[in-house]
Amino acid sequence: MRDGVRCETEKRGHSSSRGRSPLEIIVDASEGFIPLWDKGTTLRWKFRNSSLQFFENPEAAKGEIEVLLGEAILAWGDAAPVKFAKREDAWDFEIVVKQGDNCNVSGCVLASAFFPDAGRHVLSIYPKMFTQSREEQVETLVHEIGHVFGLRHFFAQISETEWPSQIFGKHQKFSIMNYGSDSRLTAADRQDLKRLYDLAWAGQLKAINGTPIRFMRPFHASGVSAQAVMVGELQPVGRLLTRPEA
Ligand SMILES: [Zn+2]
Repeated sequence: MRDGVRCETEKRGHSSSRGRSPLEIIVDASEGFIPLWDKGTTLRWKFRNSSLQFFENPEAAKGEIEVLLGEAILAWGDAAPVKFAKREDAWDFEIVVKQGDNCNVSGCVLASAFFPDAGRHVLSIYPKMFTQSREEQVETLVHEIGHVFGLRHFFAQISETEWPSQIFGKHQKFSIMNYGSDSRLTAADRQDLKRLYDLAWAGQLKAINGTPIRFMRPFHASGVSAQAVMVGELQPVGRLLTRPEA
């Protein structure tokens, strides 16, 4: 994310971490455990249609947002620990476009997301995001999806200490989970995320610095094994995308 804009997922203001020593990627531990998605998880999402009614052409807007989301998911490549499926029923999160911006002295919120857990959630997009370059829009969603995968901000242990977090992997300052000019998706971001989930799913990593890892199942799978919801019919959204008719 560019300077002057911020992400609201952690309900914190913008604090630059530039100049701090590089450490590793950071996972959430604010509930006393590290929430990661269960193996084989597909997150079902839908648009909250009422939030798109102020667009002149809501269907075209939905098509464009879906393309942006698909590109952001694909940017994570095979490091993405979950799949995404657009489903109107039994959904796990809604995409909501906010009617107004949320700006303060440290910048404007572009978007906000959620961390792994079994509840129903919202991925919010603020109008300000659509005024950014297309590259910035995709990067914003890459960053938000990083939160959905369980990642905290690069600077969580510097300026977000009220919400505990743990460090895993390389934690280089050039990270999509950083802000400003240090914000970009790197090979290390992908490698660390993939290694984190691979080790955790294999049972070789049960805790990070003493904080236990706990696997989450999405809302729609409550009471259903994660295996059982993976039977064939669900496709990752990135492969279903079509551009809206021009
Ligand atoms: Zn963020």
